Amino acid sequence: MLSLKDIKKDYVVGDSTVSALKGVSIDFRENEFVSILGPSGCGKTTLLNIIGGLDRYTSGDLNINGKSTKDFKDCDWDSYRNHSIGFVFQSYNLIPHQTVLSNVELALTLSGVSKSERRERAVKALEQVGLGDQLHKKPNQMSGGQMQRVAIARALVNEPDILLADEPTGALDTETSVQIMELLKSISKDKLIIMVTHNPELAMKYSSRIIKLLDGKVIDDSDPLDKNVVEPIKKPEKEPTKADKKAAKKERKKLKTSMSFLTALSLSRNNLMTKKARTLLTSFAGSIGIIGIALILSISNGVQLYIDQVQSDTLSSYPLQITKTTASIGEIMNTMAKNHEDSANHDKDKVYSQNAMGEMINTLMEETKVNNLEKFKKYLDDNSDLKDLTSDVQYTYATTLNVFTESDSGVMQVNPSTLLEDMGYMSSTQMEAMSMSGSMGGMGTDVWSEMIDNE
Ligand code: ADP
Ligand code: MG
Repeated sequence: MLSLKDIKKDYVVGDSTVSALKGVSIDFRENEFVSILGPSGCGKTTLLNIIGGLDRYTSGDLNINGKSTKDFKDCDWDSYRNHSIGFVFQSYNLIPHQTVLSNVELALTLSGVSKSERRERAVKALEQVGLGDQLHKKPNQMSGGQMQRVAIARALVNEPDILLADEPTGALDTETSVQIMELLKSISKDKLIIMVTHNPELAMKYSSRIIKLLDGKVIDDSDPLDKNVVEPIKKPEKEPTKADKKAAKKERKKLKTSMSFLTALSLSRNNLMTKKARTLLTSFAGSIGIIGIALILSISNGVQLYIDQVQSDTLSSYPLQITKTTASIGEIMNTMAKNHEDSANHDKDKVYSQNAMGEMINTLMEETKVNNLEKFKKYLDDNSDLKDLTSDVQYTYATTLNVFTESDSGVMQVNPSTLLEDMGYMSSTQMEAMSMSGSMGGMGTDVWSEMIDNE
């Protein structure tokens, strides 16, 4: 069923090439217990990896059930590994944070088997290796021999045709080794077992065939397969019909290595949950970049808002002022210019009088307009639209606000300020009288003023 034909394997390391296998040809029976013996470095592991599809041969051919693997694609190898081969390693390779049962079940998840069937088959495999009562232990709570049994159960749960074992007893004491060998021997009744070992006594006692390797070549085979005798009678060749081809395709599909989406999700969730601290740290580390971007965005947004605020505050210190009385400077200038023009048209026969000052005062009186501020304020108060367009509307009144404060030297007037008066200048009331309009009032002695946008 499995045959190697002149398999060679070269490893290229730097400039040099290491020939790990130098033409190995072996035919295996369907059920036998083969031990591979040989000194360290002779290519035993390499041979096992090639048989198991973990590694590719450089030249030669590996035939599985009479089919060459020369044209195998990756998915063919995946399917072969997953459905025909079970692996047992010296170092067990169990997942430490999962129970024995989940370790064995895990081997089935890739085969697309339903959850209940997975459990059933895992329990059965563990019972077969004598661990039916230890399903929920973790690997680190078990002895080496027990762990190797779990590994064997895991290898068997997929019901492979071939079991490959690389020094399965290498880390075990003699007594436990014997138990493992007994187990393998019982399994070999209906499976092909190929085992690499360092222990010739155990190999002699338990296996049915011993192959010795040296320097990448077979030097001895205790029970070679005589092809002429065992070769099954070939069926008469006939063209495969359409139905045959369809069936073959279906078979291949069935054997396809796959995992359902839900299984993959729950597996990854389990993995994350078993290492909470690490998951948390990793996700935090991963999110630092995102946090940084969010931080920069929020800072720049805040700065922009601040700039806008400052801008509107600054602009509001240049307000649009509407006073009760106003005179258009333009009109006054016009009148004065007209006077000048008039004088240019006079004949030069006599002296004309020109009442420049009087004209100016007249114009001032004529052009001065009085705003109806009472009505305007009502208009502003009623028009809520205007509030959206302005930062603030502020009113000042002709009445001076008298503010007093209590100090050590008694009650003191704060507004209107008496400072200038105290220094010997005019009183603020005199100044008030002098100034023509309320807006000029006080000439700075009116120290009371309301802050904008702050009632
Ligand atoms: P063993 O019989 O001890 O299991 P191996 O099959 O592991 O021997 O190795 C056989 C030879 O191939 C050794 O000389 C080893 O150095 C070499 N070898 C094995 N694996 C590699 C690799 N991945 N790269 C390079 N050389 C390798
Ligand atoms: Mg090895």
